[in-house]
Parts: sequence; C-alpha cells; structure tokens
Amino acid sequence: MKKHNFYAGPSILSDYTIKNTAEAIINFANTGLSVLEVSHRSKEFQAVIDEATALVKEILNIPEGFSVLWLGGGASMQFCMMPYNFLSTKASFLDTGTWASNAIKEARLFGEVDVVASSKEDNYTYIPRGWKVAPDSQYFHYTSNNTIYGTEIRQDPDVPCPMIADMSSDIFSREIDFSKYIAIYAGAQKNLAPAGVTLVIVRDDALGKVDRPIPTMLDYRTHIKKGSMFNTPPVLPIFSALQTLRYYKQLGGLKELERRDLEKAALLYDAIDNSKVFEGTVTDPRDRSIMNVCFVLKPEFKDREADFVSFCAERGIVGIKGHRSVGGFRASLYNALPIDSVRVLTEAMKDFEYKL
Ligand SMILES: *Cc1c(COP(=O)(O)O)cnc(C)c1O
Repeated sequence: MKKHNFYAGPSILSDYTIKNTAEAIINFANTGLSVLEVSHRSKEFQAVIDEATALVKEILNIPEGFSVLWLGGGASMQFCMMPYNFLSTKASFLDTGTWASNAIKEARLFGEVDVVASSKEDNYTYIPRGWKVAPDSQYFHYTSNNTIYGTEIRQDPDVPCPMIADMSSDIFSREIDFSKYIAIYAGAQKNLAPAGVTLVIVRDDALGKVDRPIPTMLDYRTHIKKGSMFNTPPVLPIFSALQTLRYYKQLGGLKELERRDLEKAALLYDAIDNSKVFEGTVTDPRDRSIMNVCFVLKPEFKDREADFVSFCAERGIVGIKGHRSVGGFRASLYNALPIDSVRVLTEAMKDFEYKL
C-alpha cells in the first residue's frame, strides 16, 4: 500500500531524491563505484558539492557576501557554534519552543542573553508579540518554525540589530530577506536531505569580531576557507541534498514551493476547523505553521487517540503521532509531501468523525 509519510524528521523526501540517491549508491556518476565509497576529494564529488552550493544560492536568492556551508553535527551543533563565533557581549532571543530554548541555553555559555519573550508558560501554543530587542544586542536569534508545537514566523522580523535564524523545518518554503541576517542554519532532515548534514549560511564580514580563540572545527572561517572540506563532509546527505535542490528548481523554485505549501496547509487547517471532533492546538491562527500542523481530539473524545492513529495506519498514513511534549497529532507537510497525501488524511478525519 502507498504510504503517506507525515513524519516530522527525518521526513519525506521527493521520489526524485530517493531514486537518484539509490542509483548513486550502486553507480555514482558512472564511476563504477558507489557514492558511499568514493573520495570526497574526487572530481565527481567536488562537482556535487559545487552544484549543491550554487543551487542553494540561486534558489534562496542569496546575495554576494554570504557563504554556504555543509557541516556535520546537526542544527544542535549550531546552537553552540553561532554564539562561539558571533557573541561576546549580548544577544537577544525569542523563546518559542524546545529548539529555541536549547539555543538559549548554549548561548549563555558565551555572553549575556536577553530573552525578549517566551510562550513557555502556555506550552508554546503561540508566538509572543509586542516584544522589543535592545539595539545594543549583537544579534537577535529566533526559530522560524517550531517543529514540535506547530507555530511559525513567516516574515523576517524587524529588529534593530542583525538576526540569526534556525530555519531547520521551514527553509525553502519562503523568500528570505538576507540583508537582515548574519546567519541562517537548517538541519537537512526536514526539508532537504537525509539526516547528517546541516546547511549553514553566514555573512562573511560578520565573522572575526569576537576575540576568544575558537577551536578549528567550530570556526566558520575554517569551513569557508576549505569549501566545507576541512574534514570529510557528510557525502551521502550532500549528494541527496543536490537531488532535492534540482527538483526544487525544476518545480519552479521558492514561489512554487510556497504556493504548494500554503495550499496543503489550508486544506488541512480547513478540515480541522470544520471538524466536530478535532481541534488545533495553536491558539492564534496567525501563528499556525504551514509545515507542522498540530491538532488534538476535543476533550470529550480524548480517549480515542490511539484509535485514530490505527484508523490512519489502515489507510497508509504514518507519522502523525504528536511530539511527546504536546500529545495529540502532528502532520508534517514538508515540501516533498504530495497534496494527495493531505487529502487522504482529511478524508480519514471525516470518516473517523462519522464513525464516532
Ligand atoms: C529538528 C530541529 C532541530 C534539531 O536538529 P538536529 O539536526 O537533530 O540537531 C533544531 N531546530 C529545529 C527547528 C528543528 O526542527
């Protein structure tokens, strides 16, 4: 049976990505070798990383003066690398979830951290508003999409200092105004590639301004200088990322990706809002994520949660169990998820309601 993959991460990849990756595992670029067994310094792999880097710049429309890096360590490594490289006095943070608060925790090791607002008390069910960033902050850090809670900031905020954003789960779903940023990072396993590589985009002239010594591997300048090849990069995830990027370009780039994402999200939120048994968990509809849609059964039907999960499983729907800190359900609608999968889910919701 066809599976409808709503996992939050690692998550669905395009058929194009999977098929080309599978082929390259057998025979990479007609070398007669697997992509798993060639040198990262071979000319064939150099061509892969070069094209992937160029496509990231093209698709995201990154201006001159920024470097695109492919690093290991996950987005979580960036929670420490960012302040290591950029924070010496004070930085401001918006606390919108587990990942945001993990970033805050690491930054505290490097300087003064000003948390401008937090929705923690309400289990992160909304994005705080009305906060102010101090102009003397070296940067403002926020998480654009809160994968666990299903909230999202879809517009680059206006603050009086440069910004850093964790865009792990919504990169490639909207245009970014890079003039506002010194860095953006994204673990690949949500909207780009298999786990193992993190896409990091840094503004070159913002580096070198902290006076602490930085360990070689944690210094962005090392990786810029060496073209992400200071050490062995995650070869396979980078190969897969290239396939996804080619697919994104073929589809029509960011505009088309965003159009599809908005359409899928509207379909599902509509089903939730029109349901008698389900309800959304995000309290302000303006904060609803188009990538991770969180919903629950209304209190009177709470005891039927496990039933709905198995009801879905019978229809090939996988990965809709909510994160353990939220409960209920979470449907992740990443770029590679076809709208038909969303239709299958909304039908299942209607059928379940009818059956109850
Ligand atoms: C998944 C996720 C992370 C953690 O990524 P790792 O690669 O596992 O370290 C960080 N931030 C956001 C927004 C995420 O969705």
